[in-house]
Amino acid sequence: MNNKIPHQPSCADPFEEDMISLSEALTRIEGRVVPVHACERLPIRQCLNRVNNEAVKSPLNVPPLPNSAMDGYAIAIDSLVADSIVELEDIGTAYAGVPFKQDCGPGQCVRIMTGALIPAGTDTVVMQEQVQVGADGRIRIDSDHRGGQNIRQAGEDVQQGEVVIEAGVRLSPADLGVLASLGLSQLQVKRKPVVAFFSTGDELMSVGKPLEPGMIYDSNRYSLYGMLAQLPVDVLDLGVVRDNPESMREVLADAAERADLIISTGGVSVGEADYIKPALEDLGNTEFWKIAIKPGRPLTFGQIGSSIFMGLPGNPVAVMVTFSQFVAPAIEVLSGASMRPPRLVTARSLERLRKKPGRTEFQRGIAVLDENNRWQVGRTGKQGSGILTSMSRANCLIVLPDDNAGVEPGDEVSIQFLDWA
Ligand code: AMP
Ligand code: MG
Repeated sequence: MNNKIPHQPSCADPFEEDMISLSEALTRIEGRVVPVHACERLPIRQCLNRVNNEAVKSPLNVPPLPNSAMDGYAIAIDSLVADSIVELEDIGTAYAGVPFKQDCGPGQCVRIMTGALIPAGTDTVVMQEQVQVGADGRIRIDSDHRGGQNIRQAGEDVQQGEVVIEAGVRLSPADLGVLASLGLSQLQVKRKPVVAFFSTGDELMSVGKPLEPGMIYDSNRYSLYGMLAQLPVDVLDLGVVRDNPESMREVLADAAERADLIISTGGVSVGEADYIKPALEDLGNTEFWKIAIKPGRPLTFGQIGSSIFMGLPGNPVAVMVTFSQFVAPAIEVLSGASMRPPRLVTARSLERLRKKPGRTEFQRGIAVLDENNRWQVGRTGKQGSGILTSMSRANCLIVLPDDNAGVEPGDEVSIQFLDWA
């Protein structure tokens, strides 16, 4: 007699028939998220981390004119004599911002400061450490110099008309500096996407009240807020939504009016999908994906009106992992930038990590440099998807790809540093 109960497919299985891979999920997201269209013109400081709308062409050469890269003496290279020392008359000083106006003639040189324009009649700068100043003030220079040395040529950084920042680039601190070096005070950037988020669950209480029996505090809205606050988006916190279809429909309809992206957490497990599904189906097109990852297998993705909806799992670790793997890339595309591949770094595992092939696992790790400046990584301890402290103790995710069948101590693994760690 058979005394075993056949199991239904579940997240305990390493692989299920209708699962999609991590990369397939990302390809779908990339294909379906439409970037925001509207732009705004802003002072360049406010453009930090925003997405550039049109390629920036330089209106000028940087630097505009040749100038000195050193403190020293500007000379004509022809005034030097092979294998000898010449003595030149110092006829004045060129300062940064205060050009030297006379011509420099034969037998003469000009004292020059870094950034000063190269005086007429000179073509070379000799470092002050490489000359001798005689008691009579004359400047002695040997023949060990190359014509044109120590001069920053006009346009050597940026040529007039050159594209310096492409459209779709997220602007870095260096980009702000480059824009300023071109004399640009404003730039047209994509408007910030608006991201709304809420938690679902009858068991959730907000902080600030004593906990009642059977209830837990809503942590997801705080970790989500933290991750969103680090991105250039406007954030709308829609609170906790109770587990019933009416509340769900109401909040989704409201969010779709106000946000470009709507994120929910929880309510997608087998027992609960019943009332979230109808609400989603009434309001838009939504698909339930089973992604071959751990944690974070179920992800709901779709459209409500002109907004993107992403329904994350409820477990607090799964929320943070799926945010980092799917929501952050979706926000990149929504913002008008391109999806970046994750920045993976190789590290040696300090531990044995058990894993079955079939899906990509994200374990929480602490990476440190060893004595040879190579990364080594250990786990934060318990790895359950409800163990949120595993996330706060971690500085990285240990990413074990689909085909990985376990790791021995000393094996190389890929790690992905957490941006906020
Ligand atoms: P669910 O997907 O709604 O069944 O949630 C899965 C698990 O995550 C349950 O144990 C929930 O209590 C927990 N959970 C869901 N939402 C939250 C939240 N906002 N904060 C903390 N835990 C949550
Ligand atoms: Mg729930």
